[in-house]
Amino acid sequence: MDMAVADDLSQLGSTARRVGAEVLDANAASVDANAQWPAENMQALAKAGLLGLHVPKRLGGHGQGMLALSMICEELARHCGSTAMCYGMHCVATQALVAKATPEHESRYLQPIARGEHIMSLALSEPGTGSHFYLPRSHFRADEDEFVLSGVKGFVTSGGHADSYVVSLTSPGAENDPGSFTLVLVEGKSEGLRWGEAWHGYGMRGNSSRTLHLEHVRVPAMNLLGARGDQIWYTFEIVLPHFLIAMAGVYLGLAAASLELAIEHLKTREHQHTGETLSTQPVLWHDVAGAWTEVEATRRLAHHAARLADAGSPGATQALLAAKAKVAKTCNQVTDTAMALLGGRGYGENSAVARMHRDARAAQVMSPTTHLVEAWLGRSLLGLPLL
Ligand SMILES: Cc1cc2nc3c(=O)[nH]c(=O)nc-3n(C[C@H](O)[C@H](O)[C@H](O)COP(=O)(O)OP(=O)(O)OC[C@H]3O[C@@H](n4cnc5c(N)ncnc54)[C@H](O)[C@@H]3O)c2cc1C
Repeated sequence: MDMAVADDLSQLGSTARRVGAEVLDANAASVDANAQWPAENMQALAKAGLLGLHVPKRLGGHGQGMLALSMICEELARHCGSTAMCYGMHCVATQALVAKATPEHESRYLQPIARGEHIMSLALSEPGTGSHFYLPRSHFRADEDEFVLSGVKGFVTSGGHADSYVVSLTSPGAENDPGSFTLVLVEGKSEGLRWGEAWHGYGMRGNSSRTLHLEHVRVPAMNLLGARGDQIWYTFEIVLPHFLIAMAGVYLGLAAASLELAIEHLKTREHQHTGETLSTQPVLWHDVAGAWTEVEATRRLAHHAARLADAGSPGATQALLAAKAKVAKTCNQVTDTAMALLGGRGYGENSAVARMHRDARAAQVMSPTTHLVEAWLGRSLLGLPLL
């Protein structure tokens, strides 16, 4: 718990907690078992007014920043990792729109988002460039007052379910020039979007992380975000920081929730031969203490990074990179410890802790992956450019 948050953020946290307990908890097991996109959960978040987290207050949203993103994602992930991921991606995509929104973007997208009528996602990664999500090969050409988009995007969260997607593109022939890249908003109902097969992940199974084929998709030129060639600015100033902190929140939530399940188990699991609960075993005290300390320390780092970023402080990027790398490790360690502490009950196919343990694995491989995050942090600390 972070005690130093403003009242409005604290209220948003309570709302997320309530929706989590009333709706997400009931659906989490079936979302995971059936690899089903969490429609009911997302509708509940929309109804509770949480979709407009980053939408400016003058447009009906909450006008919140990165600390809020981290805290709400953590709260939701305690109940359902897949839903928290879809929500986090929606918020990052929303922020990409907010950053340089035109009046048309405000009325057509941001106000509906604030009213809970529009869900977004991000389509940056591609099969060809993998975790180097900032190197799209998908391209666009201008045709009068439209852009025509072609290419393939990989692992698009909420794929086939979101109302719109922020898509990264380049000009043909300029694939290796980051300065030529561009972000465009593509509505889900556009002609020429062809979705690949359903997502059956090891974890985050409700995420609908599908491949998207862009087959000569026509979008109005007004759907360009910012100016042509702005993409590298969006990627490193908007998408990267928000994504890092959203994912920090998601994976913190999984770690914290798995530890709570383990503590509850140790307090209630009683052996017949001793008549005592597992909570009396000193070796297990050490496991619990270590895991709790990891979660608390990691949360402090994440919130510190979010506050630096919200204040526009120098050093925010390094703190955000460190937080994402640390959260990925903490989440994997703590869910692993929790699995062990829950014994055979945790190992059951549909146990909540097993789901969290599988969801946690995505923390290492979702881009920017832990390899890339640590490489960038190291380069930054040595005074080298990130790329
Ligand atoms: C659950 C889930 C949800 C996702 N949601 C989205 C989404 O909404 N939008 C989106 O755009 N993408 C999304 N992605 C895609 C994600 O961000 C990555 O692009 C994707 O997972 C990369 O997979 P890959 O196998 O191609 O990685 P590869 O690039 O093949 O990497 C494989 C391994 O090699 C390492 N590696 C690669 N290059 C280097 C290097 N230069 N230095 C050191 N190590 C390196 C990586 O760290 C990784 O461990 C999602 C992925 C997952 C799993």
